[in-house]
Amino acid sequence: MKTPTQTNTIDFDSAKLQRLGFGQPSLLPRRPTTFAQLRQQLNQQLQSSLEPERILGLFFRETQRLVPVDALQYRHETSDLRLEFGHRGHHSVSYSLSHEGEHLGELIFRRNQRFMEDELNQLESLLATLLYPMRNALLYRVATRSALRDPLTETGNRIAMDQTLQREIDMARRHLNPLSLLMLDIDHFKRINDTHGHATGDSMLRAVAATIKSQLRNVDMVFRFGGEEFLILLSNTGRDAAAMVGNRLRQAVQAQDYGAEGARIELTVSLGCSTLLAAESAESLLRRADNALYVAKREGRNRLAMAG
Ligand code: GH3
Ligand code: MG
Ligand code: MG
Repeated sequence: MKTPTQTNTIDFDSAKLQRLGFGQPSLLPRRPTTFAQLRQQLNQQLQSSLEPERILGLFFRETQRLVPVDALQYRHETSDLRLEFGHRGHHSVSYSLSHEGEHLGELIFRRNQRFMEDELNQLESLLATLLYPMRNALLYRVATRSALRDPLTETGNRIAMDQTLQREIDMARRHLNPLSLLMLDIDHFKRINDTHGHATGDSMLRAVAATIKSQLRNVDMVFRFGGEEFLILLSNTGRDAAAMVGNRLRQAVQAQDYGAEGARIELTVSLGCSTLLAAESAESLLRRADNALYVAKREGRNRLAMAG
């Protein structure tokens, strides 16, 4: 079935904002109280959060009081953000939000009936309440993400790892799901630096990180743990499945072509794997993965060892 799609671009320039009643409300024609109230309420509520999920969730819920919509999807490519609320319908209308040249994301409303003209007008007017809250939330996201990322390899840093590990342990416990951890260390990396130089070493670190991420579903769970060591968190993954993922990573790194001055550089990694035990602490889970990694190194490298 063909899905009817209406597409709109909303660039909230100053003129439009003014027309929609932002800036000079006294010049506006009177609107129905409920609509005015809703918009005022949204203006107040939305600016109290810096979380895109909360802002859009609230917007979705409150907007339904005026315009029945079944689903709202949001996408902002540059910050790798995708959110979805409700259940999809056949009809959709999409808006691209921007303000003074700054792209603030794509919004798609869906439902099973066509959208009427006056409903679209109301939606558009309500969309303006998202403008500053979403811009602030996206800015905040950029700032916090860069504080949590390793700039060389584009993986999470130690601060991010500490936060995520504790959160994942709490979640695994609450939902009685398994949680596994892989500690990955590049073999003989010092030799690579010594032979090919530090810059080549850096680019190989980046390449290894990219290979790891390309093999995983959730790239937010890869962290640079130390110089040439990475930590991978596998949520909802038990011991056997974690061993399979670990060996797949090992093979992917080995299969990759790393070159310097025309010569192919051999590169392998060793891994230690641990799976969360009942009542185990983050420190203990990390220590067991690290001990297993040590075993993998001792037993000849380019292999995975399981924690006892
Ligand atoms: P093993 O197989 O036992 O792990 O041997 P290794 O040489 O990899 O281990 P070792 O811990 O002795 O050396 C790690 C090296 O990684 C030493 C350090 O110079 C290098 N290194 C750490 N961080 C960076 C980095 O950011 N860039 C580069 N180019 N090298 C780094
Ligand atoms: Mg090493
Ligand atoms: Mg090391």
